[in-house]
Amino acid sequence: MKVKTAILILSIGIMAVLACSSDADDSIVFTDDESTTDDDGTAEEVTLSAAFSEFDANETTIYLDGNNVVIETTGFPNHETVYWGVGNELYREEPDVDLTPSRIPNFDGSATLVVSANPQLASSSTSTSLGAIGIAVSGAAIFNDQEGNGPLSGAAGSLDWTGAHIGPSVYHYHLEPKAWSDDDGALIGILADGFFIYGRRDYDGNYPTDLDESGGHFGPTPHNPEEEYHYHIQNELYLNQYYVIFPGDYQGTPSSIN
Ligand SMILES: [Zn+2]
Ligand SMILES: [Zn+2]
Repeated sequence: MKVKTAILILSIGIMAVLACSSDADDSIVFTDDESTTDDDGTAEEVTLSAAFSEFDANETTIYLDGNNVVIETTGFPNHETVYWGVGNELYREEPDVDLTPSRIPNFDGSATLVVSANPQLASSSTSTSLGAIGIAVSGAAIFNDQEGNGPLSGAAGSLDWTGAHIGPSVYHYHLEPKAWSDDDGALIGILADGFFIYGRRDYDGNYPTDLDESGGHFGPTPHNPEEEYHYHIQNELYLNQYYVIFPGDYQGTPSSIN
């Protein structure tokens, strides 16, 4: 009898504990729902996009400053290229590249971009210019489809395996950066107007079909399930073998990168 009573008391005790814990869970869920509603009803909190976690933490420093995001970079790429120069641990032998004179460690590529944490489309678009038009997740600069002294085609021979080279200044990408994106939806970087640019494919693996003349559209991204304006690498062959990252125009308001 004593044992049976003990078991009965024990099981009641366990049930009570289970009941209590499920009650507790329910009340926590309710509390969360209420606080979320409260938040929505009051001020929008400025947050850093999850996309920034893809930027190389050794090359970039990214933080919120009020309603803006500050992106600081060394300007150096975190991957191999012939442009590191013989002897560097990231040097890659690329005998077919028609090298420009400069090497990566020999320039100061550091740059800062300050953009809105919540960028909006502008009422009119802005053409891109020479120099950095964005910062890639690797830390290096993104340029448009022009080369300082003429069209990019004249400099195509100096581009390395990942569509980049050094002009007179910093190491920069013109083309789909094969180091981390090859016909996919990888995050390429952020452009000067604060919008992110992704690879040629969308989140779902398909090529987007509703892009505007800048290669942009509203849609979900790997970093945001909500509709968010973003660009894609141009999915049209350039010189029969390349994909240009971004010729322009900016659909937002560009900030300077310097
Ligand atoms: Zn260039
Ligand atoms: Zn998209």
